[in-house]
Amino acid sequence: MDIPEVHAALAALQATKRIRQRRLLDGAQGANVSLDGRVCRSFASNDYLGLANHPGLAQAAIDALNTVGLGAGASHLLTGHHALHQAAEIELAGHAGLPAALLFSTGYMANIGVVTSLLGRGDAVFADKLNHASLVDAAVLSRAEHRRYRHGDLNHLEDLLRNSAAKTKMIATDAVFSMDGDIAPIPELFDLAERYHAWLYLDDAHGFGVLGQGGRGVLERFGLMERAAQNPSLIYMATLGKALGVSGAFVAGAPELIEWLVNKARTYIYTTAMPPALSAAVTASLKVVVAEGWRRERLLEHIACLRNGLVTLPWRLLPSETPIQPVQVGSDAAVMALTRELMHRGIFVPAIRPPTVPEGTSRLRISLSAGHTLADVEHLVDALRAIAHG
Ligand SMILES: *Cc1c(COP(=O)(O)O)cnc(C)c1O
Repeated sequence: MDIPEVHAALAALQATKRIRQRRLLDGAQGANVSLDGRVCRSFASNDYLGLANHPGLAQAAIDALNTVGLGAGASHLLTGHHALHQAAEIELAGHAGLPAALLFSTGYMANIGVVTSLLGRGDAVFADKLNHASLVDAAVLSRAEHRRYRHGDLNHLEDLLRNSAAKTKMIATDAVFSMDGDIAPIPELFDLAERYHAWLYLDDAHGFGVLGQGGRGVLERFGLMERAAQNPSLIYMATLGKALGVSGAFVAGAPELIEWLVNKARTYIYTTAMPPALSAAVTASLKVVVAEGWRRERLLEHIACLRNGLVTLPWRLLPSETPIQPVQVGSDAAVMALTRELMHRGIFVPAIRPPTVPEGTSRLRISLSAGHTLADVEHLVDALRAIAHG
């Protein structure tokens, strides 16, 4: 595209009201935020445990900053690999219940690094249609065949696996789907991966810290931790900028896998290590995740309160046991009107529209947090009811 084309394309986005704009956050992330200069209740972050503004995490980072400074100064393979990174990796592997773990600067980079270092031409990725954009890009960049199966459709997936002549196969899926909040059929995916000798790659960005009694994520939720620990073809990935309230991501699995990534994952090798102080905050965050189980209990109460409160609404509340609670409204115009009405009442819930979701499935994406109070959630329920019936 040249500049006149960019100009015309932007005008077209404007005309169809599909132009995206950033809201300006002032102050800390949390249940109550200042957005574009306006204080409101927010149901729009991935800060599921309310840790992004936890003083203990900030303090851990400050303490580390005071002793080791800010910048990592180099990539991990040069001189950037700090004892604080290594300590976080050991804690993360332990919490996930897997033999080894590797930190990445972002989840996006982790997905790209893993898939491209294991697969190439002649191989195949079997991917859920609703996978996160970073997994889609990872598959494309790998040059492997990219076979997408209908959302959660195990028969479709098995057909594709059975008919594949690919040398190396990988099933790749979001564990919790980011725009729908539902959970992939993990035990069945384990079975299929074993039967067809495929890697199973689980992106648990929205489950780690949240799912399972101990917040160990989707594997704990399904009672699969032992099976996962004994399965060298399982690759577990989770992000640290969502429930953990910090930044970055990790990949966990067999020691050989981790050693391979250190040697071959380009998004690990050719980039500066994350500031070690952030790793110190990750380690501190994990301690809070373990010690403060009340955060997950509170989140479950909020989910139940919202779902009970919204059963009689005219819009479809999608099935979800996670903090991601989408209300499917249908048209762009309807969801935009709803967002505006909520904003008039001091509540921010984002409207999710195509191309992020399929045409005709525009939705409110309510995201709940242990940082909310029950009164916050009741306030949202009352507002939605008033809008629906008024
Ligand atoms: C957020 C997210 C990512 C990207 O993680 P970042 O650390 O934000 O880059 C990857 N996968 C899924 C499913 C996500 O929701």
